[in-house]
Amino acid sequence: MPWRTSAPRVLIRQLREVMARPDDSQARLNRIVKLIAANMVAEVSSIYVCHGDGSLELFATEGLRQEAVHKTRLARSEGLVGLIAERGQPISLRHAQSHPAFSYKPETGEESYRSFLGVPILRGGRALGVLTVQNAIEREYEQDEVEALQTTAMVLAEVLASGAMLNGALGPDPKRALSQTVEGATLSDGIALGHVVFHEPRIAITRLVSDDPARETARLEEALGELKQSLDGLLTHAELSRAGAHRDILEAYRMFANDQGWAKRLKESIAAGLTAEAAVERVHVDMRVKIAGGGPSSDRFLHDLDDLANRMQRILAGRSGTAASGELPKDAIVVARHMGAAELLDYDRERLRGVIIEDCGHSSHVAIVARALGVAAIGQTHGLFDMVEPNNPVVLDAEAGKLHIRPSLEVIKAFADKVRARSKRQAQYERLRDVPAVTQDKVRVSLLMNAGLTMDLQQFRDSGADGIGLYRTELQFMIASTYPTIAQQAQAYGAVLDAAEDRPVTFRALDVGGDKILPYLNHQHEENPALGWRAIRMSLDRPGLFRTQIRAMLKAARGRTLRVMAPFITDVAECRQAKALIEREMERLSKIGEPAPERVQFGAMIEVPSVVWQLPELLPLVDFISIGSNDLLQFFYAADRENPRVSARFDALSPASMRMLKTIVDQADAHGKPATVCGEMAGKPLEAMALVGLGFRSLSMAPASLGPVKAMLLSLNARHLAAALKTMVDAGEPELRRKLNEYCAANDVNIPRKDAVIAEAPAPREGEPSVSVH
Ligand code: PEP
Ligand code: MG
Repeated sequence: MPWRTSAPRVLIRQLREVMARPDDSQARLNRIVKLIAANMVAEVSSIYVCHGDGSLELFATEGLRQEAVHKTRLARSEGLVGLIAERGQPISLRHAQSHPAFSYKPETGEESYRSFLGVPILRGGRALGVLTVQNAIEREYEQDEVEALQTTAMVLAEVLASGAMLNGALGPDPKRALSQTVEGATLSDGIALGHVVFHEPRIAITRLVSDDPARETARLEEALGELKQSLDGLLTHAELSRAGAHRDILEAYRMFANDQGWAKRLKESIAAGLTAEAAVERVHVDMRVKIAGGGPSSDRFLHDLDDLANRMQRILAGRSGTAASGELPKDAIVVARHMGAAELLDYDRERLRGVIIEDCGHSSHVAIVARALGVAAIGQTHGLFDMVEPNNPVVLDAEAGKLHIRPSLEVIKAFADKVRARSKRQAQYERLRDVPAVTQDKVRVSLLMNAGLTMDLQQFRDSGADGIGLYRTELQFMIASTYPTIAQQAQAYGAVLDAAEDRPVTFRALDVGGDKILPYLNHQHEENPALGWRAIRMSLDRPGLFRTQIRAMLKAARGRTLRVMAPFITDVAECRQAKALIEREMERLSKIGEPAPERVQFGAMIEVPSVVWQLPELLPLVDFISIGSNDLLQFFYAADRENPRVSARFDALSPASMRMLKTIVDQADAHGKPATVCGEMAGKPLEAMALVGLGFRSLSMAPASLGPVKAMLLSLNARHLAAALKTMVDAGEPELRRKLNEYCAANDVNIPRKDAVIAEAPAPREGEPSVSVH
């Protein structure tokens, strides 16, 4: 007999009454199974509880023999009950005994019951136990009944998780109690020890059942409305409206949020007696179970589902914003699925030790900002959210691209060794600080620093860099809530020039659009923002913005040299126009008789392949060029730098990119125009070595890369390498990276290895206590 929608509500109310009685645990469970059997019109209802080792124990039953309670035990994955716990999915059978997984336990007397329905008792994605009903006759359980039993199991999960009635039966979740190591890709070098904070905090549900479905439905509808509105807002103009992966994710959320089926199921769960929050959790767990196990694309889908449910919970709890706006521990290691550069800048630098961003490539802007802040960071850590809980102690070894979760003492000891080795290496780099970067064969390479925030200036003073090769002016704009005034901009640029004293500084004109959105600048939605209205395109269409910035730079650089370059030049005409706008501002100064810079040098960034074929026209127009290899290679290889799934598909160290870069440096040399590489490859020792081998003599990088790159240069014979590299590139060497590594080993070129000083986490031992790190 199928249930009516109100039936589970009645059961849930009765369950609550049972919970409120001052019974002991066993009496309470006995009452619960009685109630379930009566409500489900079943002869049998039983509760099995999972132990830490995965086995399941019969804890209470109505209908099976009472002697079996606390005696019947099924090993991990044994029987139908074991299968349900393992898969986290319901099983409904007309004739249980004929299922291959059926395991007969004679002490229970279950041979008289044919039909069987069992559902997992899930909490936070983990099975705490299994709830079953059985009937003597052969019958089909209807979908409504399966759902009703699942809803009941959800309430039961809270009862079990409260632990009071289990006498410690429920062991720790083996997955979440042991030491584990997750591998990822280094985004920003460094080692950090601390405690996990979720960027988008999870909300714990405390109120599960409600007697007032009308009120809960109204709360749900209001929250759904708010969710849709916030997603639309993010997609149209807010700072999260970024390119590629971020946008796809938001679109996927919007699709879910507008899904009528989802809303309907939420409402049904409320009608069954749950609160709005519990309904979100209930439907979420259910959808998760249905989707899980379908490979990488289903994993991606699961992330989106988790995020959406969490967003809904935050709205229902009346909490908004990321962890940055709340109370952070002193040693926060922030864990995020995705994060924008501006969001990272929101964190209190004093408390932020490290960041892990699942969806993030090395050249994405948040990674660049992490490097600028000197915060250890890794990305592309698959499955991390299933392993880690807020507040877990962790060791983030960004140097090796690893996160040690709940580290064991062995790992902590090994980690201490690694920190010592690292500080020894840092001390060596420190000693190189004032040593000029000259190769063994006396080739001087200018090592410059990339910067963009005032806090970079202290690092610049201590860095021993020959100058600032790329000052990303947009970072100041990205952290401001309104467009900075000329005076504010001039003050910031002046501070950079003061800090540099007589070392050169190259300012890059505003490079926004694409993945760098200013919240206060109305930006139209674009299907393909990386190829859209951005950087110099925006500046030329809105010359007012560009001229304001140039005016501020001219003011800041009075009596000194101003070096400014235009980003994202695609056509030589853009270069001419940008240069003309600068000249116009210079003329204006002389007309009004205001002091001007002693000299203005104008450069173009080479970031789009089309411009490589216009160098003969472009080079005579400029004083220098700077190669933005992050963008140049993303367009060259048609691989989104923000999307780790594709950004790692090509290797910058391959004959194709080497040939293109060689073309650029050769033509710049022929025109007597200096060429700097300021993309991320310039800061990686092996790539930097290849660039020097191609003929580049100026490299600009994050401050932490200066030491390793200088150490490499001091041990290198540039001409010898150039000849070897030419041979490899001319031959179209398919394994250029490996060959270059071999070259280093054979010629004693000092390339820091991603050494494995730190021992692997020992194999997890069942029940091993987690170790705190302080
Ligand atoms: C580049 O594209 O290589 C570059 C230096 O600019 P950004 O990373 O800021 O886009
Ligand atoms: Mg760029």
